[in-house]
Amino acid sequence: MRTELLYLDDSYLKEFDAEVIEVQDNGVLLDRTVFYPGGGGQPFDTGKLFFDGKESRVVDMRRENALHVLEGEIPEKGSCVHGIIDWERRYRIMRAHTAVHVISGVAYQKFGVIITGNQLYEARARMDMSFENMSRELAERIIEESNRVIEEDLEVRWYYISREEFKRRPELMRVNPRLYEKYERIRVVEIVGFDIQADGGTHVKHLKEIGKISLEKYESKGRKNKRIYITLTS
Ligand SMILES: [Zn+2]
Repeated sequence: MRTELLYLDDSYLKEFDAEVIEVQDNGVLLDRTVFYPGGGGQPFDTGKLFFDGKESRVVDMRRENALHVLEGEIPEKGSCVHGIIDWERRYRIMRAHTAVHVISGVAYQKFGVIITGNQLYEARARMDMSFENMSRELAERIIEESNRVIEEDLEVRWYYISREEFKRRPELMRVNPRLYEKYERIRVVEIVGFDIQADGGTHVKHLKEIGKISLEKYESKGRKNKRIYITLTS
């Protein structure tokens, strides 16, 4: 990735200045960005780029190289741009993302339920779980307990650890460990005193920002595989 991903350190950045380092198809690569390019169940950010008195909408992001796909005029290579993400949308996704961490922590630690996948939306998420004795009642207990954890308002931190330390701590790998082999440093997200995992997404700093979780829907996808949808109210 040639682009410095500013959201990795500060997930609350809404605007930034950058330079166009390459024009590709109908988009631009920037030397730095606040736009999340998508991945790990978190959707890409939308927003606007301003340049030379013009503005174009960022309607898509290419995950592998953080290409900002634009609707409207394309700035030339070497241009300076000012970017603004659709913050209200991103913040609702950040709340959902952090909620998913709390729920997966509770599900695993208290009930031995493993989350096999998730998709984040605005103040909403879908979670897939694999558990022999899963039931709607158990899903409701997990959500109830998650809301209790949110009430504790624990702090959320993100930082890097070395690949060696990462290998010594298999509990940090929630997805295919081979995904991390190319990285020298691994970014981890920790809900202090509660849960820690390798993760490249954006999260809120304090659990209370999540609001209250409710179980919107419970679906059976087979004997062991169940799916829930959760929504957040503030
Ligand atoms: Zn995360």
